[in-house]
Amino acid sequence: MEDNHIYQYSLLNALMDGVCETGISVSKLASKGNQGLGTFARMNGELLFVDGMVYQLEGEGKVREADDSDQIPFAVSTRFVAQQTRALPLKDKEDIESALNGFNDHAANLFMTYRIDGRFEFLKCRTVRGQEYKGQPLAELGKKQSVETYENVDGTIIGFRTPKNWQGFGVAGEHLHFITKDRKAGGHVLEVTAQNIEMQMAVASNVHVELPTSDDFNAAKLVTDDAGVKEVEG
Ligand SMILES: [Zn+2]
Repeated sequence: MEDNHIYQYSLLNALMDGVCETGISVSKLASKGNQGLGTFARMNGELLFVDGMVYQLEGEGKVREADDSDQIPFAVSTRFVAQQTRALPLKDKEDIESALNGFNDHAANLFMTYRIDGRFEFLKCRTVRGQEYKGQPLAELGKKQSVETYENVDGTIIGFRTPKNWQGFGVAGEHLHFITKDRKAGGHVLEVTAQNIEMQMAVASNVHVELPTSDDFNAAKLVTDDAGVKEVEG
């Protein structure tokens, strides 16, 4: 992978349809860059790929180093090289969106990747607990999440932004995953407040997409469920 090219496996719509039994291996994802987001087979926890390491963010905010052979039904990754670094406060998640929008005049319809490091005064994170039956839709799992809060914690947030109106393709800018500096806790960020963090950003105009060839993917309707996506991205 070249710097700031994006590799994506599967489509958000497929995940929304519950296509998550199999996928690529952790070692394959790890060969596609140094940071990323995703989920594991049966949507068992959130995936965070940071500094070349793949972690599984499990229920109750616990963190496990993923095994090379673990299956990933959906992920997006990049070999991130910052093009712009800003120090800024975050009063909420919308400030992240604003920083991405303020990157430059020509990124509106491009993909963006980012990384935020520093001390977070407040974080509210969730982790999805995994499917209870094959094909259970992600929108339904969103209602059965484990939610934790953190105060005055040092760590890293990784995020990607698919251009708006590509909603069923990949993750939105407000979809971000957090891990503590000691790599012992983390989750999908619902709320964030920080007085002074460092946000590194880059735009991406090259996106490599690999699609599943499974029966499940073949049968997926791939119709964008706006309300469902909103629930999951939240
Ligand atoms: Zn997530």
